[in-house]
Amino acid sequence: MKKKEENIRKALEKVMDPEIPIISVIDLGIISSVNVSERDKAEIKMTPTFLGCPALELMKSQIKAAVEALGYLEVDVQIDRSITWNSNMISEEGKTKLENFGLGRPEPLKGTLNMDMVSYAKCPYCKSDDTVLKSPFGSALCRSIHFCNQCQSSFERFKPVE
Ligand SMILES: [Zn+2]
Repeated sequence: MKKKEENIRKALEKVMDPEIPIISVIDLGIISSVNVSERDKAEIKMTPTFLGCPALELMKSQIKAAVEALGYLEVDVQIDRSITWNSNMISEEGKTKLENFGLGRPEPLKGTLNMDMVSYAKCPYCKSDDTVLKSPFGSALCRSIHFCNQCQSSFERFKPVE
């Protein structure tokens, strides 16, 4: 990767998800391309994450601000709808961060999303998978609420999405 693009990606590692302020847009895997044109115009493409998560416009403006802070006068952040984001695109580091935040890690998607995948969750506190789905919708549409029978705590997690 070229130096300029690399620097932009580094800067984006500091742009956090507005709802989960410990995970960056890079960890989430939503930056699909970074490109600097010959006349130093920065073009960033991001995939929309969860349908129903209202943070998209906010993230877009934060990404723009972070790149402008590097000195780029022209920054174009586009929503790339040609790629569908899914929870598999979250980096390993990102998944661990989610867990540390008290959110269950999204299980890798295999095949078509089904109810078993939505209801299966590992407890972020004690790592038990003796958990039950309490509600398919948490504080945000993209999260579900689970209860751990092992340590008796409830937790939210990102639903696996396709
Ligand atoms: Zn537990």
